[in-house]
Order: sequence, then structure tokens, then C-alpha cells
Amino acid sequence: MGNIAIINPLKRVEGALQTEISIGIKTLSTPVPIPKIKGQMDFGIVCDNTQLEKNVKAICFDLYNVAEIIHKRRELSKQYNLKMRSIDENYDNLIKQIPILVDPNTEAFYFKIPWKIKQKKQLYVRDAFYELLSLPENVKKIIEKMEPSNYNQSWSTIWNEEMMVSIIDSFISYQSLYNADIVIPPVPLVTGSNITMQLMRSINSKARRPISEIYGVISSMYIPLHYKIFTRFDDRGEKIREDIINYIKENIAFYKFLVIKLVWYSNISNSKPARKEYGKFLSKIDKIKKEMKDSFAVILLDAGAEGRYTLANSVDCFVEPVGKRAGVIRGSKKEDDEEIEIITHGNYLHPTEGWIPFNRLLEIVKENKGLLPCSCQACDKYHGILSKDISKLEWNIARRSHAINLRRRQVDTIAGSINKGKYDDIILRIDVDEDRNFIDLLPRNSNLNNIY
Ligand SMILES: [Zn+2]
Repeated sequence: MGNIAIINPLKRVEGALQTEISIGIKTLSTPVPIPKIKGQMDFGIVCDNTQLEKNVKAICFDLYNVAEIIHKRRELSKQYNLKMRSIDENYDNLIKQIPILVDPNTEAFYFKIPWKIKQKKQLYVRDAFYELLSLPENVKKIIEKMEPSNYNQSWSTIWNEEMMVSIIDSFISYQSLYNADIVIPPVPLVTGSNITMQLMRSINSKARRPISEIYGVISSMYIPLHYKIFTRFDDRGEKIREDIINYIKENIAFYKFLVIKLVWYSNISNSKPARKEYGKFLSKIDKIKKEMKDSFAVILLDAGAEGRYTLANSVDCFVEPVGKRAGVIRGSKKEDDEEIEIITHGNYLHPTEGWIPFNRLLEIVKENKGLLPCSCQACDKYHGILSKDISKLEWNIARRSHAINLRRRQVDTIAGSINKGKYDDIILRIDVDEDRNFIDLLPRNSNLNNIY
């Protein structure tokens, strides 16, 4: 018998919700930020938890590197086993206690997203699909040649030749192999074309049964959206958004989770009308949620700072990469991805300015008599001593731990405001000075826009 999910809404204030979610024996209280584990270092931080103020409540991996991250850690733990208690115990405890997600990364069918360099050859995330998933040869051949110009045609071929079942099955079994508690069906990036709309409907419904009956885990409805869905202001654009909303409305009763991904928010962050369309879209989801008595939860994948604002407009939890920002990773030059992160000091998540470069942080620290702009468990020990000479490895662990701590603090205050029933308070607590544009993502109907 498989797991069951129970959504227990505790408190709603306008578009913001406090919910207790049970998945089998695991529970998740929302609103909550979910760290995306992009590499070995992130994984070590959440497992070993030496600089985190609170344990993370859920984690999300990328399908293309989850195996590598977990296996590397298992190897490490074997080495340590002789001398000390298994460091893997921490991971084993973690997967027993918190919900795990594995992002199917289906946008990699559309974009050529760099993965790693192997034997001097640049590999893309879609190459990971052939390497890791047991996809049939004919499917591989089509995927290999996919690009935006033949995207629709390629999917039509896959669809017409009935190759969809094997794709669905390999993605689902892979996610469940890596302990995903909520499985996300491999819906390809929805661009608004007829074939992608058809695939969204059909894959979501085809995947639902095997997920719950064969794998015994929880299924979700997945809608990965190309950002241009929100940059079309003509009738066709309006129709596409309306069709997606209607699809959700007619089918969400079969699910407990609606998983959304906007690929990528950074592409609409400079367009006010696009941001407003996105906000409107979220409000429509919230309306469905209300009509359904808050019986499903909304998970937003790969958000950045905007994730917090969406918590006030239908979203229950958002997944955010802790080291890198969400978006396309530009071509990597080194063999090992982790190396690239470590050779620089990386960006620091400033409490009000968002992600800032290390040099900017040093300026702020200097102006501030040596104090960092945050006093979390990870930052505290660097007051008065942070300089450019800090070990890059040490700093990378600290700044990532800090990012997890800071987001958690920020979201916990939102949860507190919901609990007190103070919606305006939520908005005021959100640091609008980081980027005032985020106000466009909030519901239109409330009078809170008068605050600013
Ligand atoms: Zn901090």
C-alpha cells in the first residue's frame, strides 16, 4: 500500500495560507522555503547542519545530479566508517524525517543547459537523461536533436509514435528510486503551443495512476511554464493562460499537490505587464484553491527572491537553490561543477538587497564597523574578521548556510503574521526595499497596494 497525503489548512489570510501537510508519516508545515541541493556542498550543509539555525523541513534535488550527490556521500561515509560513526547516518535520518522532491528538469528538453565536461566534451542536462534513465534508443535520438525550432515537431513525433509511456515510466521510477515522496511527472516545458498544452494534460493524467499504484508514492500535477506565457499580451496569450487555469480547475481534485515552475522568473523581472500577468495567474490559482476549500498545496520550483512574495498569493512552499541563483547556468569550463563554485567567493544573500557579490559585501562590512548585515548562526562568527583572505571553501559553506537561515527566518515571520491574521503585516514584513517590483506579484483585489 502506498503513502497518502493529507492537506490540513490551519489558517488563511487573503492569499496566504498556513497548512499542515502529512505525507505518510512525514509532516511539513507551510509556508516554508525548500532548499534546492545543487551539489555536494549543499548536501553536506543540510545533512550535517552545523551552521543551520533550524533543520530544513524538506529538500529538493535535480534529477540530473541526485545520483552523483548521494553516491559521493555514501563513498565518503564508507571511508569514515572505520574511525567514527557513519556520517551517512545524518542523511538516513534526514530522508526518514523530511519530504524529498526530485525536480525532473524537463526544461532541459528545450534549453541546452550545461551539465558538466567529460573527457573534454561539454555535456548538457539532457545527456544526463540518456545516461541515467533507461530511455529507448528511438526516444534518445529524437531528444538529442531537440531545440526550440523543432521542439513541437519532436514532441509530436514522440506522441504519435506512442513513445510517451516509456518516458513517463523512466522519469517516475528514477524519482522514486531516489526517495522522492512527491513524484513530479515529466511534463515538458509548456510554451503555449498546442502540442505542449496537449502533453501537459495527457502526461499529468497518464502518470497519476502508475505513480500511486505501482510506486506507492504521491503524485502531483506539474506545470512547467516558459516565461513567454507571461509576455504575450494578445488574445492568444490570454487564451493560453486561461486554458491552463481551466485545466487546473477541472483536474486538480485528483491531486493533493500542484507543482509549478516558471522558467525563469528573471526573464520577466524587468517587465511590469509580465509580472502583473504572473500575479494574476497566481491569484486565479488561489481562487481555485478557495473553491476547493484549500484541499491541495502549491509548490513553486526554482524560485528566487520572488518566492517569498508568492507565499502571499496561493503558493505554500517554494524551492530555491541556496548557492546559485535559479536560471540557466552558463557554460562551465572545469571538469567538476563544484570546483567552479569554490574558486570564487560567490554571491551573498543580503537581507534587504538580495544577492550581492562578495566585494560589495566587504564594502558593506567595512562601512558597518566590521559587522555583517546578518546575525544568523553562520554569519555570527565572521563579525569583525571577514576579509578577502578568508578560505573560499570555508566561506562557501558559511554563505550557503546563511542563505538557508535567512530565508527560513523571513518565511517564519510570514508564518507568524498569517497566524495572527495580519495580512498587511505580511506585506510590510516582506522587505520591499529589495525589489519593489515584487508588489506586482501580489493579489490585485486587496487594498494593500495602497500601502506603497
Ligand atoms: Zn546570516
